Amino acid sequence: MWESLFKKYINILFFLFLTIFKGNSQKPFFRSDKDQLWLSMDLHIHSVFSDGNVWPTIRVEEARREGLDLIAITEHLEYQPHEEDIPNPDRNRSFFVATESINKGEKLKVINGSEITREMPPGHINAVFVKDANLLLHEDSLSGIKEANKQNAFVFWNHPNWDEQRIDGIARLDQFHEYLIKNKLLHGIEVVNESTFSEEALQLALENNLTILGTSDIHGIIDWEHQIPNGGHRPMTLLNVENESEKSVKLALFEGKTVVWFKDLLIGKEENLKALIKSNLVFGHLKYIKEKLIVEVELTNKSMNSFKLEYLGDYSFHQRASVFSIPANNKIILKIKTITKKKEISLPFRILNTVIAPKKTLIYNFIIK
Ligand SMILES: [Zn+2]
Ligand SMILES: [Zn+2]
Repeated sequence: MWESLFKKYINILFFLFLTIFKGNSQKPFFRSDKDQLWLSMDLHIHSVFSDGNVWPTIRVEEARREGLDLIAITEHLEYQPHEEDIPNPDRNRSFFVATESINKGEKLKVINGSEITREMPPGHINAVFVKDANLLLHEDSLSGIKEANKQNAFVFWNHPNWDEQRIDGIARLDQFHEYLIKNKLLHGIEVVNESTFSEEALQLALENNLTILGTSDIHGIIDWEHQIPNGGHRPMTLLNVENESEKSVKLALFEGKTVVWFKDLLIGKEENLKALIKSNLVFGHLKYIKEKLIVEVELTNKSMNSFKLEYLGDYSFHQRASVFSIPANNKIILKIKTITKKKEISLPFRILNTVIAPKKTLIYNFIIK
């Protein structure tokens, strides 16, 4: 009897060890290839230092638990509704508080940012990688934007589709924005903000070579807004960087190497989405069984997102229609009727839950040997 009790305790201890170990080794949202690295980031977040409802350390803990690589806490510079309780004379303070709660050597990083908060035009503008947020406080918004640029910040237009500032929900440029773009003072645009996706903002990004961004703009609690415990995730930007250094992150942001992850949608420029798909939807090798002319191949989804695929080629499948889904972190076997034995085939797929331009999805041609 003592022996079986002992065994039971050992089993429980082992289970606990596994649970703790699992908690510390979170899977990345999307897999990176050897020659590329995808970082997950949220560059638009609020705390009680502007109109958010939590202390900055909670923002760090939320991002840590969710498994993000980088966040910017971007308080409204000019809108300080908690001023009576939190006078906040130093607009860098929430960044400092957040940074102090980052452990040495941990993968999550915090960068300094601010939201320059004005009527339309230009509306709300975020600046990240700022050196001193206090210097961005100006009478007019243009001076604040110019100061952010002087500090070599990455500057982007927040929620250009916000229905409080655009009653039709359509993102469009005013002269002010054209001026900013022409003078390289504006570098990115939110295509996804909180719970909205704007096709018009995506079009503006593509036409004006602005970096495509998706952010949570969280004011409340991430778990409540995005059902994280049930497998949800916040809207975020995935960034293709050479390495994790600040220099590399900044360069990739300015070069527009982003894909936005919003619900089960992936939104980005074609070349960036192709790079992400290449590392995350992976085919194995062709395998014919005996003399049969039906080839089997394994398809692995290495990401935390499910994919909906539509096959566009001439073959037919043995067990599936031309449209099917592959769940997150999953493998399926495709049986393809190739009529004759092939050493190599190409399978063109439309990936239905991607967006590369308004009303346009990505087509990816997989070459399989
Ligand atoms: Zn805003
Ligand atoms: Zn905001």
